[in-house]
Amino acid sequence: MKYSFKCSDIGQKCGLEIYGAQSEEELLQELSIHARIEHKMNSIPDEVLNAIKSNIKKS
Ligand SMILES: [Zn+2]
Repeated sequence: MKYSFKCSDIGQKCGLEIYGAQSEEELLQELSIHARIEHKMNSIPDEVLNAIKSNIKKS
């Protein structure tokens, strides 16, 4: 199973797309680095995390 996510799915305009993560954990790890650098979030707030999780696509 591959996990993918786009920031645009939760209304962000940065254009980030993550494809091919092997697990939800791996995807969230990649995303937390992106969030820190691009969105100035030292940690991802729970409501954002929930929105992210419900928009992760599995294929
Ligand atoms: Zn982003």
